[in-house]
Formats: sequence, structure tokens, C-alpha cells
Amino acid sequence: MSVDRVTRWLAEADRVTVLCGAGISTDSGIPDFRGPNGVWTRNPAAQRMSTLQDYVADPEVRRQAWRNRRDHPAWSAQPNAAHRALVDLERSGRLVAIVTQNIDELQQQAGSSADLVVEVHGTMRAVQCLSCGDRTPMPDVLARVDAGEDDPPCLRCGGVLKSATISFGQALVPAVLAAALAAAQDCRLFLAVGSSLSVQPAAGLTEVAHRYGARVVIINAEPTPYDGLADAVLREPIGIVLPRLVHGALNATG
Ligand code: NAD
Repeated sequence: MSVDRVTRWLAEADRVTVLCGAGISTDSGIPDFRGPNGVWTRNPAAQRMSTLQDYVADPEVRRQAWRNRRDHPAWSAQPNAAHRALVDLERSGRLVAIVTQNIDELQQQAGSSADLVVEVHGTMRAVQCLSCGDRTPMPDVLARVDAGEDDPPCLRCGGVLKSATISFGQALVPAVLAAALAAAQDCRLFLAVGSSLSVQPAAGLTEVAHRYGARVVIINAEPTPYDGLADAVLREPIGIVLPRLVHGALNATG
């Protein structure tokens, strides 16, 4: 399937929803989870930090998780050409939403409007208490970690703190899921970018968009379970192909 054909579809579509995964941020130096150099591909045990049951039950998992947050490449990462292309798509007035599974906030840093970015898996830049729900900025908690608290408890209620991200075994925020569903249902073109499409319910938005009549385009280096229903699958580097698609479509429509 040629890039030119998808560019034409993008030029024709007045309502576009984008579903992003970790693959859009690898060019910014943040490894994905399941790609060839993914965090979990290289160290399957790291999944325990993202599993609620292990996190709550095992202080050593939490200690490792805080070190991991402190040393995360997102703190020094910069948005890349693909994030910026989506900002240009928004400026053209055809973007319904960017539903992102990413927790790095690079899309907002690139200049996307916060109300168009639906963070289905939350953000690593905030911390939430699992008992009382109190929310604090991540840098405040990391300062406590640096000062020697290797498993800092909630200052309000003493409960277990965790990054404000969705772990395995943890439900999505209903209003956020509803916004993501609405965006999948209300578009003419659905672009799934840089996701292995293996985490539900986010991946299933691809099928929802297809069922509601959108053209579905998947841009990902590796096969996904949804390739069969897609109208086009582009296996090219996101940082090259996404800007080419967006700018080609915008040039075509003036
Ligand atoms: P994933 O790791 O399961 O899949 C990423 C996919 O992107 C892989 O199939 C890989 O082949 C592809 N890819 C990577 N770089 C690419 C490139 N430059 N061009 C083309 N394809 C490329 O990621 P996922 O589907 O987003 O699911 C992982 C979960 O982990 C998400 O829920 C997310 O919350 C979290 N996560 C987030 C970040 C982040 O915020 N940047 C990073 C890692 C994981």
C-alpha cells in the first residue's frame, strides 16, 4: 500500500483520530516495551513494576519502580518530527483527538492542545495515592526518593503512592475511556501509530473505528493483531512517514 494513497485519504478526511503508542516516542530516545529493543523484550521481569498486584504487595517492586521513574529518559527527552506533525494536523482543523497510550506528555510538549490529547494510560508526571487519591507532581515525590525515602508513603494518609499511570490490573478512568471511545466512533480516518495494539481496551478502539465506518491505517514497524481489518498498513519509520503523510495532505488541501 503506497504512502501516496494514504496521503490522499488523509487529505479527504475532515475528521481524523490518532491512536498513539510507545513507537511514536522511540525517536525521542524513550524505548518502547515490546519492540526489538523494548524494555520488556530485554527484561521481562520489568513487567512486575507495571502490574498493580505486584506493586502493592512487594515493597522491592515499588523501590525499583521509583528508581525507574527517577532515571526515566522522558525527563530529558524532546518531542520529535512525528509529534510535531500531529500538531500541524491539529492546526489544519481536522483532528478529533490524539488518544495516546503514552505517559511521557511529549505530545503536549510538542504543542498539541491538552484537551485534544486523551491519555488513556495516564501520565508519569504525576503521582496518585492508591488509598486517598491525593495527587502530587512527580518531581516532588522524586525529591523525597533522592533524599533517601526509597518507598515514599502518602503524606496525607500514609497510603501507597504510585505514578498516575494505569497498571495492569487497574481500571481505566471511565470518563477518559468514554472520550477515547467517542473519538474512535466519530472519525472518518483512524490512524494507529507506533503501537503493538496488544493492550486492551486501547487496541480495541481500532476495531470500533472500523465498525463505525472509518478508514483504518496502521503505521507500525511490526505486525499487529488488527492488520487484517486495516485499509492500509505502513511498516515504515514513524518519524519519516508520519510527517510525510501529514504535510503531503495539508499541501494537497492548501
Ligand atoms: P509497544 O511497545 O507494545 O509497541 C510499540 C510498537 O512500536 C512496536 O510494535 C514497535 O515495532 C513499534 N515501533 C517502535 N518504534 C518505531 C518506529 N520508529 N517506527 C515504526 N514503528 C516503531 O507499545 P504500546 O502498544 O504503546 O504499549 C505499551 C504500553 O506501555 C502502553 O500502554 C504505554 O502506556 C506504555 N509505554 C509508554 C511509553 C511512553 O510513554 N513513551 C514507553 C513505553 C511504554
